[in-house]
Amino acid sequence: MVTVPGFAAYDLPPFRPRLPVNFAPLAATMECMDAAPKTKRLHLPGLYLREIEDACVELGQPAYRAKQMADWFYGKGVQTFDEMRNLPADFRSRAAQKIDLYRATVEQQLTAADGTMKLLLSLNDGAQIETVAIPEAERLTCCVSSQVGCAMACAFCASGRCGFERNLAPGEIVEQVLHAGRAAGSRITHIVVMGVGEPLANFRAMVKAIRVVNADWALGIAARRITVSSVGFPEAIERLAAEGLQINLAISLHAPNDRIRNQIVPANRKVGIDRLLHAGRHYFARTGREITFEYVLIAGINDGAAAAEELARKLKDYPCTVNVIPCNPVHELGMQPPTDQGVQEFIGVLHHRGIKATVRRPRGVEIAAACGQLRAASVRRAGTETKG
Ligand code: SAH
Repeated sequence: MVTVPGFAAYDLPPFRPRLPVNFAPLAATMECMDAAPKTKRLHLPGLYLREIEDACVELGQPAYRAKQMADWFYGKGVQTFDEMRNLPADFRSRAAQKIDLYRATVEQQLTAADGTMKLLLSLNDGAQIETVAIPEAERLTCCVSSQVGCAMACAFCASGRCGFERNLAPGEIVEQVLHAGRAAGSRITHIVVMGVGEPLANFRAMVKAIRVVNADWALGIAARRITVSSVGFPEAIERLAAEGLQINLAISLHAPNDRIRNQIVPANRKVGIDRLLHAGRHYFARTGREITFEYVLIAGINDGAAAAEELARKLKDYPCTVNVIPCNPVHELGMQPPTDQGVQEFIGVLHHRGIKATVRRPRGVEIAAACGQLRAASVRRAGTETKG
C-alpha cells in the first residue's frame, strides 16, 4: 500500500456492492462476453513473456527465443517472422504457422491539421475499432479502444449509439498501440484507454494489455504514463487498485449530483455518485495516484455556476483534478457545448473553491477524432449502403 501523507483517512474499508444484475447493459459486458472468435493460433501482442516462452518450448526451441522474438516485434517493429534474422529459419516458419503477429488491418487513416491521427482498424472477424495518436510537445499519446462498441449509452457519446458488439482481446488492445506508433512514425510515450468501450467492463483483458505495454521486454511504457478512463464501477475500481499498478484513473463524472448523472450516464442509476467517490478515494489511498474527473460540459444540461458550485462542494478536499471537456457536438445527438465564456465561468467557480481544474481542448475535430465518431460514421455508411 502506498501511504500518502495526510490521506490516511481515505483508506476506508471497501464497499462490496453486488453486480447490478438487472442493469442489462452492464451485466451483458461484465466479463461474460467472449472476446475475439476463438482460434488455436496465438496472438503475440496478447501474450506475457512466459507464455511466449511456453510457445517456443512447444516448438522445440529454448525459452530464450521468446525474448529475441519480443525484441524484434516490439523493439525493432518487424511485421513478419521472416525478418527475425537471429531465429533459425525452420523455427521462423513453424512459429508463423502457430502465432499471429498482427490481426488487425488499417482500413482508414486520417490526419488532422493539428497532427492528430485517427486509424480505423478491421479485426479478423470484420469488427471495426478506432485508435487515435495525438502528438503534443514531447509526447505521443495513443488513445485505445477497449471494446467493439459500448453498452454504456451515455447521452452525449457517439460510441453508445451503435450498441455493444464484443470485448476486445488483450492482443487487440496492444496491437492498437503498435499501429498508432507506426502510423505516427514514432514511439508512443503515453496511453489513454479513452477510446470506444468501457475498460472496466473488459477488466481482465484490459489489465493484461496494460501489463504487456508496461513490461520492459515489450513496449516499456511507464505505468504513470497510462490512464484508464471509466464511467466508474466501484467494485471494479477497487479491483484495479488491488492490481498494484501505478496507472492513472480518470472517472467520467459529468455531473454534480445523481439527478443529472442518471440522465446522461445511465450506468449511474445502480451506482450513485457517493459510492463512486468513495471508490476513487480508495484507489488514491492504494496507489497514491490522484483521480481525474472528466466533466463533459453540455449547454443547458450540466453547465452553469450552480452546477459548478455543487461540484466544488462534492469534491472539497478530494485528491483530484477536474478535466472540463466542452462537448463535441455529435451527429444527431443535438447537444452543444457552452460558449467559451460559459466554460470559463464553470472553471472559474471551481478554481475559486480551491478545486484543481483544467480544460481539455478538442483535438482532430475535422477528422471526427472524438470517441467513437469515425466508427459511428462507418457503421452509418454501412447501414445506408445495405438499406440501398
Ligand atoms: N467508457 C469510458 C471510456 C470511453 S469515453 C468512459 O466513459 O470514460 C472517453 C471520454 O470521452 C469520456 O470522458 C467521455 O465522456 C468522453 N466523450 C464522449 N463523448 C464525448 C463528446 N461528444 N464530447 C466530448 N467528450 C466526449
